[in-house]
Amino acid sequence: MRATLFVGALVCLFVQAAALSDEGAPKPAVDKKEIEQLPGLYKVAGRGGDVGNVYCVLTPEPVLIDCGSRVGWDQLVGNLKLLGFSPGDVRWVIATHGHWDHMDAMALFQKDFPSVKFAIHAGDAQFVIHDDRVFSCAEPLYKGVESAPVKVDRILLDNDTVTVGNTDFHIVHTPGHTPGSIVVVAQIAGKKIAFCGDSIAGYYSLLNRSSTIDWQISLKKILALDLDWVYTGHGHDPVDSKDEIRAMVESQLDAVTSKRKLQESDEPYRGLESEMRKGR
Ligand SMILES: [Zn+2]
Repeated sequence: MRATLFVGALVCLFVQAAALSDEGAPKPAVDKKEIEQLPGLYKVAGRGGDVGNVYCVLTPEPVLIDCGSRVGWDQLVGNLKLLGFSPGDVRWVIATHGHWDHMDAMALFQKDFPSVKFAIHAGDAQFVIHDDRVFSCAEPLYKGVESAPVKVDRILLDNDTVTVGNTDFHIVHTPGHTPGSIVVVAQIAGKKIAFCGDSIAGYYSLLNRSSTIDWQISLKKILALDLDWVYTGHGHDPVDSKDEIRAMVESQLDAVTSKRKLQESDEPYRGLESEMRKGR
């Protein structure tokens, strides 16, 4: 059931742009059991398209995988409080990529809690440092929401490891959705878990500098990781079986491959993409 729903959701995500919700800001949980995924792993923010999922790994200091947009700030702060922490206790935020819905809240951390460090892959770092509002989707998808430049404390490259306390966060570069998309892999409660951001289920756009060729290679790289659980950047549940993970990744591989065929048959489109790539 979950797998069927997931594949359906993937197809939607691929073709449909995320959007701002009109439901008001998301709220924190009442009980920490609501946000616990595994011992030491919590989902501390996330709501649909405008607040990407934020995962907190206790190392035992809190490390966040993504920090969402400012729309989810109160939810994030409230959930950290439930775990006994303030935002200033967060040691690192590791961004899966540089889109507004996944990392805009870093500007709020840096304003009031400057000890919190931010890491992002080299391929997306340039866009967040300069607050590129077209790349980040702040303009084209989220219609003029607030954003701000973000300072990068560590530039990540493929195969890097961020070690905090007793946990190693292994960085796998998976360009495609954006040039600097990554998958963060960690062993948590005996499981090999990957936080994938939009590397599997994201949408294709020239404004993201998406690349179907890179994406095909990245999806095959994710298949080879032999993961136990996968968390995507949007949606509720982990994908918690190897068969479901394979089905999800292969479904996106099919979608990306079709997109590539479309693109190859369209010369002006290819030309536009190559022009944009020169400006990278
Ligand atoms: Zn994205």
